[in-house]
Amino acid sequence: MTDTLAEWELRQAFRHPGCPICTVIQNNTERFYRWFILETYGQLPMLETLSRGGFCPIHGWEVAVRAGQRISFTYEFVVQDRAARLRSALTSARAYAWWPVSVLRAAALGRRLTGWMARRRRERLARAIRLSLAPSQPCPVCDQVKGDERYAYRVLARLLEHDEERAAYQASAGLCWHHLTGALPVATPTVATFLAEDGLRRLEALGQDFREYFRKLDYRFASEPRGAEQRAWLQAARYLAPMGHLPACLSEALDPNSPLGPLLRERTRDLAAST
Ligand SMILES: [Zn+2]
Ligand SMILES: [Zn+2]
Repeated sequence: MTDTLAEWELRQAFRHPGCPICTVIQNNTERFYRWFILETYGQLPMLETLSRGGFCPIHGWEVAVRAGQRISFTYEFVVQDRAARLRSALTSARAYAWWPVSVLRAAALGRRLTGWMARRRRERLARAIRLSLAPSQPCPVCDQVKGDERYAYRVLARLLEHDEERAAYQASAGLCWHHLTGALPVATPTVATFLAEDGLRRLEALGQDFREYFRKLDYRFASEPRGAEQRAWLQAARYLAPMGHLPACLSEALDPNSPLGPLLRERTRDLAAST
């Protein structure tokens, strides 16, 4: 992706109701799934990556749900590879198993020898597990997310050197805590100060919403109309748990514009009614 395109995407994300970097990551993750289904599901680099590590549980299910039967080609390869690795680990585990242990145990020297053999077998098995079973590559989607975050921090830091971009950022939902703390070390002192001050302003506003929420729990003010403070918990949850790392189905449920939004609104209403 070119820097110009990345800047354009981030500017677009400023208009989205959520952390701009989370939005970029969600878009890129969807792009990963589309390319997987179209092309990479059968390409050797992807097959090798998945054999050496595999998808994490969240991304594994996300990709399986999207790809359906198409993933058969991918997983047939991975299943064969895993079987070969397990066979190799078993071969190591069986080494020394042919020694006449019961005969050796009868003698003192034999007992020392069987102890040595047990240790040796444990070491060989541990080594075989480390070499052939332990994952040596991360989940490709998690890996892409990490790379996208690092890239987005640099692009954002560059954008925010301009006043008009800062105004657009201030009008956006702002960075979640995870991405704010990731972006700060990458930015120049001026941009980092701007981001930190903006983050503090948002946190203070959220703190005020919580104070208002708890004030209205008091029976003396319970009859006052309820407003945005009733959703402070949701704002805080969005702020503290990056949406870009969520499974798509859950982040969709939390999007008030999605068809699943009504479920959440209903839940919010129930909570408000029960307090
Ligand atoms: Zn974020
Ligand atoms: Zn993952």
